[in-house]
Amino acid sequence: MPVRSIRTYTVLPSIPERLKPLQVLANNLWWCWNANAVALFRRINPDLFEALDHSPIRLLTTLEQKRFEELLDDDGFLAHMDRVAEALDHYMKAPTWYEETYKAEKDAKIAYFSAEFGIHESVPIYSGGLGVLAGDHLKSASDLGLPLVGVSLMYREGYFRQYLNVDGWQQERYPENDFFTLPLIPELAADGSPVIVSAPLPGRDVFLRIWRIQVGRVPLYLLDANIPENRPEDRAITSQLYGGDSNTRIQQEIILGIGGIRALRKIGQKPSICHMNEGHAAFVSLERIRVLMEENKLSFEVAAEAVKAGTCFTTHTPVPAGNDAFPASMMDHYFADYLPKLGIDRAQFFSLGRIRPENNDEPFSMTVLAIKLANVSNGVSALHGEVSRDMWNGIWPTLPKGEVPIGSVTNGVHTQTWLAPELAQLFDRYIGVHWEEEPTNFDIWKRVESIPDAELWRTHERCRERLIVLARARLKAQLKRRGAPPADVDRAEEVLDPEALTIGFARRFATYKRGDLIFRDIERLLQLTNSTQRPIQFVFSGKAHPKDNGGKELISRVVQYAKREELRRKVVFLEDYEMNVCRYLVQGVDVWLNNPRRPHEASGTSGMKAAVNGGLNLSILDGWWCEGYDGENGWAIGSGEEYKHDAETYQDDVESRALYEILEKEVLPMFYQRGADGLPRQWIRRMKRCIATLVPVFNTNRMVEEYTEKSYVPSHRRFRTLEADHLKSARELADWRKKITGDWRQVRVENVDAPNGDLLRVGTTFPVKVTVQLGTIAPKDVEVQLCYGLLDAMGEVAEPKPFVLSPNGSPEAGKVNFTGTVPCAASGQFGFSVRVLPKHANLNHSFEPGLVTWG
Ligand SMILES: *Cc1c(COP(=O)(O)O)cnc(C)c1O
Repeated sequence: MPVRSIRTYTVLPSIPERLKPLQVLANNLWWCWNANAVALFRRINPDLFEALDHSPIRLLTTLEQKRFEELLDDDGFLAHMDRVAEALDHYMKAPTWYEETYKAEKDAKIAYFSAEFGIHESVPIYSGGLGVLAGDHLKSASDLGLPLVGVSLMYREGYFRQYLNVDGWQQERYPENDFFTLPLIPELAADGSPVIVSAPLPGRDVFLRIWRIQVGRVPLYLLDANIPENRPEDRAITSQLYGGDSNTRIQQEIILGIGGIRALRKIGQKPSICHMNEGHAAFVSLERIRVLMEENKLSFEVAAEAVKAGTCFTTHTPVPAGNDAFPASMMDHYFADYLPKLGIDRAQFFSLGRIRPENNDEPFSMTVLAIKLANVSNGVSALHGEVSRDMWNGIWPTLPKGEVPIGSVTNGVHTQTWLAPELAQLFDRYIGVHWEEEPTNFDIWKRVESIPDAELWRTHERCRERLIVLARARLKAQLKRRGAPPADVDRAEEVLDPEALTIGFARRFATYKRGDLIFRDIERLLQLTNSTQRPIQFVFSGKAHPKDNGGKELISRVVQYAKREELRRKVVFLEDYEMNVCRYLVQGVDVWLNNPRRPHEASGTSGMKAAVNGGLNLSILDGWWCEGYDGENGWAIGSGEEYKHDAETYQDDVESRALYEILEKEVLPMFYQRGADGLPRQWIRRMKRCIATLVPVFNTNRMVEEYTEKSYVPSHRRFRTLEADHLKSARELADWRKKITGDWRQVRVENVDAPNGDLLRVGTTFPVKVTVQLGTIAPKDVEVQLCYGLLDAMGEVAEPKPFVLSPNGSPEAGKVNFTGTVPCAASGQFGFSVRVLPKHANLNHSFEPGLVTWG
């Protein structure tokens, strides 16, 4: 029987005054991307630091008092500590890119909402790529000095920890997070009591505590439902990341979106911009609208104009089924009490979450809600932007898909977080320390050419050895835990060869990522792995979602292969993939393998982490690699073909053959072609090219700068404009929209006067006159465009370019002429069409659903 505690108490270590900087450092996650700070904590007790998930706080709370006394006498340690403390101090005070670039936007406040954040393995509130991206976003926002805060949930158990049974079948375990040894700072009211906010659930409120984690300059606020004020079942809502059923999911999303906004307000943070990282956070807009309505006595429509202007959305999921959507009955249940506060009826509410508002069978999609209530939306790579425009074209059914207003900002990784410390030192020495502050500077990264080949190679080999030491130790522990015979456990020492070509494959095990593709022709693989001249080996790692049996089967298959006698020493599967294992892998492998079914990999970021360390990508041209690959900085499998859903077997055959081919003909020969000095010169050349071309682009500093320029700052300006003078412009915009929408029926293209079938020469122009019936709509409120472009085989303009025509003369009975002179810039067979769109200075784009009239 568990002992029920009647009183709780916390014992804190008594850290000597002189060592107090350690506590300050431990409470700002800045330490985790600064090699010197990591080294400082490691130095205190390397084994303990390792055993405690590299958590400085756990280290400090576990350390024996005696060790503190020793450190007090260790001048080298004290000097090291002072240097690191000073570096943090300097970092926090230094002038920043944002301050210097956007002086007029000093008052902007960005709130970045995400269901998960992967900042460091010791803060387990992430599952994988999405969370790590969000964590890297915060780190770069801190580096650049953005006025940004993060918002998420504080999960009592986080995501599951993976272990495998004897058959290689994934088992899940949910250890509880010990809040006392996490870098959590409680948000307290003036009287010292915890700040509590609520979020609405059917028939009750759920109460939330607010924790803060400091990530450099940026605070991350985390909501926690596990407090005594709540019913037992409500206390469990924030237990597991992506746990439970769809009810848990919607409850978590209500807490994240609605609770998140309330929490920010309660602690005095009023965002001008909310950035929703994936649809999970889409309820943010509803709550912002509600608050604005309540405080300013506004209609939904007016408040929505302002909120929309201050909202940005990033979608991550190129597969319809991967986007959260709730059945209407569920939305009715959860929003019955909330809806009246929005002042809209059920039909209006549902139209916000549906592609086709009138379709009663369509579930309520969080992505659609997010898109409809954001003024900027984007995918996470150029290709994913394209896929997203196609996927969500239904929201703007009359637009060609190329014009669907969803752009793209390609993902990145936080360079300092993922770079091996040994390599960082090498960079400091040869390319200068500025790479840390200016990771996007091409000129700096070009200087990798000046690193002597031998040094770069030796450093890389050290990282590979480190990976292999880790792999053996982990494998040994895995086997022991599974109860394997001692002889088998001992044999774990023999796996992998520190000098062999090492290929890494680690990511979530989802079927589209095809973790077993390399085993498709096992004989051909064995021929490669059996070579004693040119050995090759593979390290795998990754979790499958607990409900994804397909993914679990993939893992089990890989593990079964790894058990075969011929492959036992060449193929290793490391359990429990998380950021620590990821770091070892991306820093130690020679080649990072990625073979998803195009175009299912929205971006992928682990390949970027490998590239930071000179690991060469061998990847399908999908996600970021379409933009990254230049022919010499890694390898492409295939050339970007896409296959029909029913041709998957064929696709796997073709692409696995292409993979073997590249390994046999290019990767292996290049790796093993050594000079007299033992160096693979060509390989090293490729490593350098990989670093010089990829690192300055695929980092989160570039990404966050791009978000700032394309999304945050324009949104902030629009939001402030609409909000000023008691939302004067928002009211006008709402009135304008109402009028335009009501009058739009009158809009007709009456006549088009332009060449038809004429032969024109490049360099000439042709005049166009379009007569439009606008009814009661003023010419300044519309834009008339000629959409022209090359005709395809079907006689259609596949990629129309808009050419804006100007109103000419005054309206006569609602009829207005729009004219222009169109240049013939290129030869070919062209066609055009004409359309009328609404136009308003305070809208980001003119593509309002339903308001496009084609001629
Ligand atoms: C970077 C990272 C991922 C994302 O990998 P992808 O290649 O984008 O799928 C997943 N899990 C962890 C632990 C990571 O660090």
